[in-house]
Amino acid sequence: MSELVVLGATGSIGTQTLEVAERLDLEVAALAVGSVSAAMFAIAERWGGARIAVADPGDAVSDIRAAFGERAVCGPEAATRVASRPGSIVVNGIVGAAGLAPSVAALEAGNRLALANKESLVAGGPVVTAALDRGGGELIPVDSEHSAVWQVLVGEDVARVRRIILTASGGPFRGWQREELLAVTAAQALDHPTWDMGPRITIDSATMMNKAFEVIEAHHLFGLPYDSIDVVVHPQSIIHSMVEFVDGAMTAELGEPDMRVPIQYAITYPERRPAPVEPLWLSGAEMTFEDPDTATFRALDLGYEAGRRGDSAPAVLNAADEVAVAAFLDHRIGFLDIVEIVAATLEKVPQCDLGGLDDVAYVDAEARSAAARFIEGRG
Ligand code: MG
Repeated sequence: MSELVVLGATGSIGTQTLEVAERLDLEVAALAVGSVSAAMFAIAERWGGARIAVADPGDAVSDIRAAFGERAVCGPEAATRVASRPGSIVVNGIVGAAGLAPSVAALEAGNRLALANKESLVAGGPVVTAALDRGGGELIPVDSEHSAVWQVLVGEDVARVRRIILTASGGPFRGWQREELLAVTAAQALDHPTWDMGPRITIDSATMMNKAFEVIEAHHLFGLPYDSIDVVVHPQSIIHSMVEFVDGAMTAELGEPDMRVPIQYAITYPERRPAPVEPLWLSGAEMTFEDPDTATFRALDLGYEAGRRGDSAPAVLNAADEVAVAAFLDHRIGFLDIVEIVAATLEKVPQCDLGGLDDVAYVDAEARSAAARFIEGRG
């Protein structure tokens, strides 16, 4: 098997990827991190031969050189450099826009990209899919919903798919009305009932913007029109997503929520290997389904709208959301304002083609400053 390159190696996805690597006895060629930490030194020691890529070494460049010598790669391009090593399986668990360039580099080098970084396909969808076409690599999703669809589609012809149905937990405010959401605080929104995630994705789950992003990702991953992508609220999250075929048959992937399963599958695909995961026990389990309340949670419709506009619109959605979520966490705007600001920014920033990474960076900056102006106008 190819050697692993793990981007975001000390984060949640990276840590679980290294667990999988340990268990399957895989070789690790490189580990990329954002900054210097004790965890970085620990994994660098465990994976003795691996290159160590540090995006922002701060004032520790000489320490890093002293510790790792030739193994070290430092600077903003570090992850991109190690991702472009041919013959690698690149697991991209970087959080944020910094994950896009390494995704493109991995695919251009013809590598397999096991993708957990949201921004790659949400902000840079056209650029990433062009890199996939050019480089002849493979793009395999790690997110549980998209991995479910990927698994269901093995051996199937996408032309025989009527629709894919992404499941959504509904977030902590499922069933709430707009009046109740007006007074929601950052602390309430951060208190997700089942998942302990980073602050932005927790707020994105509460607004359902996360599901909007997943619809856009699904469009790029599976090449399906937005009319063929649906969302159903399934609070128990037992079904990770499903596919309905033209003959009316529907196939689902189910399991305990454990990210090691989709991470491992993206690495070993098309093979399956044993994993130390709790078996799913269906006796007594309850599964319910309902339509998303799109009148209360407007992010979902906004995601479809941005996706259908295409080009730069999803990049605007992503950048404006990041700025608005930060303002909410900082108590500068209310919970419902997040999506209002994203909608206003989407109207404001002119649409353009995304030919390459520079275009994505330009649109990202335009959207951030437009969103910041709307936030000031509200404060
Ligand atoms: Mg997900």
